[in-house]
Amino acid sequence: MPAPVITRFAPSPTGLLHLGHAYAAKVARDLAKAQGGQFLLRFEDIDHTRVRPEYYAGIEEDLHWLGLDWDGPALRQSARADAYAAALTRLQEIGAVYPCFCTRREIEEEIARMVSAPHGPEGALYPGICRRISLEEGAQRLTAGDQPAWRLDASKAIEMAGELTFTDLRHGRIRVDPGLLGDVVLARKDIGTSYHLAVVVDDAFQGVTHITRGEDLLPSTHVHRVLQTLLGLPEPQYLHHHLITDNQGVRLAKRADAMAIRRFRECGRDAKDVLEDLNPVDP
Ligand code: GLU
Repeated sequence: MPAPVITRFAPSPTGLLHLGHAYAAKVARDLAKAQGGQFLLRFEDIDHTRVRPEYYAGIEEDLHWLGLDWDGPALRQSARADAYAAALTRLQEIGAVYPCFCTRREIEEEIARMVSAPHGPEGALYPGICRRISLEEGAQRLTAGDQPAWRLDASKAIEMAGELTFTDLRHGRIRVDPGLLGDVVLARKDIGTSYHLAVVVDDAFQGVTHITRGEDLLPSTHVHRVLQTLLGLPEPQYLHHHLITDNQGVRLAKRADAMAIRRFRECGRDAKDVLEDLNPVDP
C-alpha cells in the first residue's frame, strides 16, 4: 500500500492571506483530498522581527471562511528551535557548513570588487569570503564570541550528496544543481536557522509526502534535496505551481492588501466564488 498523501500549507504570519495564498492552500488541500490524504497547516514564523501575533488567528479564520480546513493542530516553527539546532549540529559534524562572520556590507563590497562575481537565479551569490578562512581562525573567532551565520559549503555538499534529482508533478524529473544558490545561509546570526533548514526539517517531521508551493521557490528545492540527503531524510515529491498574478501580470505578493481574502469577505463575496475564480485547471 502506498503511503498516504500528506500535504501542507505553510504561510508566514506576517500579513493577511491574499489570493495567491488561497491558491497555494487550495492546491495543497485538493492534492491531499483527491487521494484521501491529510492537509496540514504550518506557520513559518522563525523571523520574529516580521511576525505579528494577530495574523495567526487571522490566517486561520480566512482559511475556515474559504472552506480550506486543515487536519490536526497547526505547527509553529517558532516552537521547533531545538530540532533546527540538532540538524545544524549534524551538518557541522559532517563538515557540510562553515561559519560566516561577514556583514552584508562586506559581502556587497567584495562582490563589487570582483571582476565576475558568481550569480544565481536570485542575483549575486555569496562570494565565499569565509570559506577561505582557516579552521584555526574560525575556531578562534567562535571562541572569542563572534556570532556567525552558518553557510552550506555547496561544493563539499555536492561531493557528499552525489548526483540527485527530484520529481515535480508539473515538470517531471529534474536534476539537482547543488550550486544553484551557492553557499546559502542555513542558520542566520539572529535566529539560528533559515527558511531552507527549517522547511526541510519540518517537512520530514510532519511526514509531508508532497510539497506544493509556488514556482518562485523552485531554485530552493535544489538546496532542499541536498539537505534532505545530508540529513538522511526521505525524498518527498514536489508540485511547483503557477503564481497567481493580477490582470496586469503583477504578482500578488507585491500588492497583498488589495487582494486580501479579508476584503472579499467584508465585501460580501461568496467564498466558493473566490476560490473558483482561481482557475485551478492547471496548477
Ligand atoms: N512560507 C513560504 C511562503 O509563504 C512557503 C514555503 C514552502 O512552501 O516551502 O512562501
